Amino acid sequence: MKLMIYAEHRDGQIRKVTFENISLAKQLGLPFEVVLIGNTSEDAVESLGKYGAEKVIKVSTPGLDTYSPDGYAKALAEIVKKQGADILMLGATATGKDLAPRVSALLNAPAATDCIQVELDGDQLKLIRPMYAGKVRANIRLNGDVQILTVRPNVYSAVESPVQASVQEESVAVSDVKTILKEIVSGAKGKLDVTEADIIVSGGRGMKGPENWHLIEELADLLGAATGASRAAVDAGWRPHDEQVGQTGKTVSPSLYIAIGISGAIQHLAGMSSSKYIVAINKDPEAPIFKVADYGIVADLFDVVPRMIEELKKMKN
Ligand SMILES: Cc1cc2nc3c(=O)[nH]c(=O)nc-3n(C[C@H](O)[C@H](O)[C@H](O)COP(=O)(O)OP(=O)(O)OC[C@H]3O[C@@H](n4cnc5c(N)ncnc54)[C@H](O)[C@@H]3O)c2cc1C
Repeated sequence: MKLMIYAEHRDGQIRKVTFENISLAKQLGLPFEVVLIGNTSEDAVESLGKYGAEKVIKVSTPGLDTYSPDGYAKALAEIVKKQGADILMLGATATGKDLAPRVSALLNAPAATDCIQVELDGDQLKLIRPMYAGKVRANIRLNGDVQILTVRPNVYSAVESPVQASVQEESVAVSDVKTILKEIVSGAKGKLDVTEADIIVSGGRGMKGPENWHLIEELADLLGAATGASRAAVDAGWRPHDEQVGQTGKTVSPSLYIAIGISGAIQHLAGMSSSKYIVAINKDPEAPIFKVADYGIVADLFDVVPRMIEELKKMKN
């Protein structure tokens, strides 16, 4: 069985989930190739080699230097066919969610998205993915000549295993491309994305208003964390949508998730319950967030969070 890993990149840099998928492929013991489409920085191939990618297929698509949903899907489907890959693996990121179903349709191949466990049973993939907002976990086996899966970021670790990556240059002409990227309007530059962060400090309606968010930001800064929010905070216009964690926001799996003034509605839990450690700060001891929390602090957040900030500042000095 031959595995192909789609190398996701942003601003020319390979995204962490790709390194995680390479480490997963090595763990599975399957031969694999990494496919890189579009313009990247000079050291992109080198960074793939650092995590153990021995072979990188560098695909140029004339007229498509930047991401195009249907254009990249067509190019990726072509490369999968050309290289004779049996499995295509992507990250369960916004890009992976966009590309996987398109490639699946083009190749008439089954796809399992947002997998949180990937194993091999003989030559069959044995996958686990959450369903119904995380209420159940489904065991999945795919049946098809080509099988597609996306893997949730941060579930598998990226482990360095340096090799010299060899590069195979390929050019794929895609026609009838309907979407061309003209401009990217990005949010705050340099802001850590919740899906890639190892620590997340999230706030909810209990924060009372945007004027109190400096507490979340200060705590996050001290911990080197990204800031997240519940939908209530986003809907109220206190926080941007790209910080929303949950069923209709982002799915995260950090090592540490600190939920502050968040009740723990099922739709919020759907996005963060696979975090390795969950700390909840809530004044209501009955709040459902405590059911998933590893550590709970039943207290007024306006009392506890400033104290945490003070203690962390002391530790840093
Ligand atoms: C289809 C659908 C999709 C949804 N998708 C999402 C999603 O993606 N993400 C998401 O988050 N929600 C989502 N929701 C909304 C979800 O159901 C909840 O309404 C929302 O998560 C509640 O946000 P919250 O916990 O911040 O607010 P609340 O439920 O109001 O909780 C606030 C918490 O703060 C605590 N608190 C208040 N003051 C203090 C204080 N001073 N100190 C300590 N604690 C305090 C309270 O005890 C309470 O537990 C979705 C809902 C639907 C129907």
